[in-house]
Amino acid sequence: MNLPQHVHTLIVGAGFAGMGLAARILQTQPDADVLIIERGADVGGTWRDNTYPGCACDVPTSLYSFSFAPSADWSHTFARQPEIYRYLKKVAVDTGVLNRVVTDCELQEAHWDDTQALWTVRTSRGTVTADVVVAATGALSTPSVPDMPGLETFGGTTFHSATWNHDHDLTGERVAVIGTGASAVQFVPEIAPATEHLTVFQRTPAWVIPRLDRELSGSEKDLYRRLPLVQKAVRASVYSFREALGGVLAHATGLLPAFELVARVHLRRQVRDPELRRKLTPNFTIGCKRMLLSNDWLRTLDRPDVTLVDAGLAGVTQDGVVDAVGNEHKVDTIIFATGFTPTEPPVARAVRGSHGRTLAEHWGGSPSAYKGTTVAGFPNLFLMYGPNTNLGHSSIVYMLESQSAYIADALEVMHHSGITALEIAEEAQRRYNTRIQSDLQTTVWNKGGCSSWYYDSEGRNSVQWPTFTWKFRSQLQRFDQENYVSRRTSVKESVA
Ligand SMILES: Cc1cc2nc3c(=O)[nH]c(=O)nc-3n(C[C@H](O)[C@H](O)[C@H](O)COP(=O)(O)OP(=O)(O)OC[C@H]3O[C@@H](n4cnc5c(N)ncnc54)[C@H](O)[C@@H]3O)c2cc1C
Repeated sequence: MNLPQHVHTLIVGAGFAGMGLAARILQTQPDADVLIIERGADVGGTWRDNTYPGCACDVPTSLYSFSFAPSADWSHTFARQPEIYRYLKKVAVDTGVLNRVVTDCELQEAHWDDTQALWTVRTSRGTVTADVVVAATGALSTPSVPDMPGLETFGGTTFHSATWNHDHDLTGERVAVIGTGASAVQFVPEIAPATEHLTVFQRTPAWVIPRLDRELSGSEKDLYRRLPLVQKAVRASVYSFREALGGVLAHATGLLPAFELVARVHLRRQVRDPELRRKLTPNFTIGCKRMLLSNDWLRTLDRPDVTLVDAGLAGVTQDGVVDAVGNEHKVDTIIFATGFTPTEPPVARAVRGSHGRTLAEHWGGSPSAYKGTTVAGFPNLFLMYGPNTNLGHSSIVYMLESQSAYIADALEVMHHSGITALEIAEEAQRRYNTRIQSDLQTTVWNKGGCSSWYYDSEGRNSVQWPTFTWKFRSQLQRFDQENYVSRRTSVKESVA
């Protein structure tokens, strides 16, 4: 599909967020002038890009899937990456979204023209103007690689877990894995049996609890197909359990020692070496960093051909990785499991608002938005999975569907009221964020004593949603036009 000259609603990114919003709009307005541009060659976002061995979701799939597109085909309670990717491609076809996607098309720069009330968007496939831009570019979509002295001199192979090099055979190799987060715990147990030696570099240990995963039987799948209400009930019960967990993390942190006990027993069962157990025991409250789910990560670290280095990293030589106490670990391949850049999303450097500054300049290293979705000074721009919408316990898809409802309602309001430009009032955004930051103070994410990727360069938690997810949904179920400054012509008039 080619890029048109103009489109009403331009969505950037075809992951769960962009696809879900487009599907929602098309559901009520099949002829809506909506287009998705996607820098990748296909839809799928996270689940197109992350193809590392063992990649799977860590929220049960009955909840980690679109509410409007249930599937009875999942192989396990926690689906694997290939099937989530297949699912998203199928949804794109079934909903008609695929016909609205321009692939291999990266947003490179966008600026708002106040006089014309229009975005001009420069992409890798030409320029398009749009009345409304939705940045659905993902919080965990751009891999982060640490700046390690000497990395350019390394003679072996390097890659990031999010861009796995499947042409490279790790069999019989000495491999270094940098990082011990959610991706590493999934792929390290998968590759360890094939490598000659695996050296895992850990900055801080994480609490690990068992993953209650199991295969879904044929009769369960049949039941879901014949009685969709049963599947809905399962989804509701998973949701309720996750909400209860969220309640503990946010509001009842006194109950967290019970979870810590589970993690300690899990560690004791899987790791025989007491010194290794010591290295793997966190010194912060469970839940402060995302709890990791795995049944084989800890056991793998206890293998004789796996070494855990917790001394920190000094740099890289031509032959290997040097730790902070000066030991060189000779390796053939370095795999970065070092996560993403959620508090510095690249799209923020590309989007310029009404004052001529980019989102990144406006944020100054500390992102904030109204309801994680709109930003003062950036009219007709909506963010999905924006600041303070991440979760430590439940499905991001639930948050994204809440944002889709809000944005779709805003588009309706604009259409019916003849509004050409909408912008959140600065004061409303300020009040909202004061509240969010105050609510975060009592949560485990802020007071659990860890440093995590939830904190931005200003030391502010600009990532986590602070309370129950139903509260987010109820705040976004209706577009609150009264908190916005809007105009119908080129002259601004406040409707607040
Ligand atoms: C390995 C992994 C496992 C995860 N597991 C879970 C889980 O179990 N539960 C959970 O709730 N969350 C999980 N997440 C978080 C996950 O990112 C979200 O759940 C969800 O996929 C986000 O969807 P999205 O559409 O916002 O972003 P993405 O899926 O990242 O999609 C963003 C899309 O935007 C495109 N894009 C970015 N920049 C541009 C640009 N400039 N121009 C054009 N296109 C652009 C990207 O190519 C991508 O296709 C996981 C993340 C990872 C990495």
